[in-house]
Amino acid sequence: MANVHVFNAGPCLLPQQAIDNSIEALKNFKNTGISVLSVSHRSKEWGEVMDEVRANWKELLHIPDTHEVIFLGGGASLQFLYVAMNFLENKAAYLDTGVWAHKALQQAQGLGNAYALASSADKNYSYIPEGYEIPTDLDYFHITTNNTIYGTEIKEDIISPVPLIADMSSDIMSRPVDVSKYAMIYGGAQKNVGPAGMSIVIIREDLIREDLPEFVPTYLRYKTHADADSLYNTPNCWSIYCCGKVFQYLLANGGLEAMAQRNEEKAAVLYGFLDRSQFFTAAVRKEDRSLMNVPFFSPSKEQDAEVAASAKAAGFDNLKGHKSVG
Ligand code: PMP
Repeated sequence: MANVHVFNAGPCLLPQQAIDNSIEALKNFKNTGISVLSVSHRSKEWGEVMDEVRANWKELLHIPDTHEVIFLGGGASLQFLYVAMNFLENKAAYLDTGVWAHKALQQAQGLGNAYALASSADKNYSYIPEGYEIPTDLDYFHITTNNTIYGTEIKEDIISPVPLIADMSSDIMSRPVDVSKYAMIYGGAQKNVGPAGMSIVIIREDLIREDLPEFVPTYLRYKTHADADSLYNTPNCWSIYCCGKVFQYLLANGGLEAMAQRNEEKAAVLYGFLDRSQFFTAAVRKEDRSLMNVPFFSPSKEQDAEVAASAKAAGFDNLKGHKSVG
């Protein structure tokens, strides 16, 4: 394969070993003579894959028995809707830390009373708001732990007096998380876990509601999918299979503790370079800098374009960044 370094925010680069280990299943899944693209999701062989993937996922994040893991079709954007459909009854608050956090809020506002408890929109989302108090009368408090476009990250598990729901699309599996602090964690698979098309959901079992209003469609109820072990309808077996290979890779390479260390070391090199540079400037307040996404500028838009073009020619793909930041 060509020596290209991929800097897409998502879909992201998957470990080459995980890709190599997935390829055989495209031709011959578990010696069934059938491609994983055609395997029945009700077959014994597929059931074994699901069991292993779930077990490895739980092991990696040290997920307590109180929480269930679910694969769901659609990306994190669909989860914005699921969250509000399943948890919003009276009032919910959101931390408005970027485009995705804002979209999550807007979806909830379409269904009920949801508001931004704090926002960093005033400075183009270049920091994580502080000093807010989480009211105790909320159905839930929603955060986006890594703001993909803006490059800010909430690196500590927030203590919340109400159920805490986190979109971890772009930093899940990059570091250990204390899952017990969260009512729910979700993310689109395509950032740190596998191919696009699936969302991963970790949800506290006792919060999976049965008594939802009738207007909530069967498909948009977490209960439907939890009860069916993520096989209520035909899943994207290929995406789940690849997620499984990424989980195996992460476990074989020291788990999330080792990943966190590696990510910190890599980020220190890059931020150190940016801070010493007389040419580049890092966009984000130091204490809130993401280990996943690093927006930086040169002195002018023209030079930014030049940097992106010459980086591409040197094999650094897609350093251009999102149009709202750079
Ligand atoms: N949340 C975050 C933090 C994201 O980065 C993204 C995708 N860039 C989304 C949600 C939306 O994800 P999807 O494309 O899977 O709907």
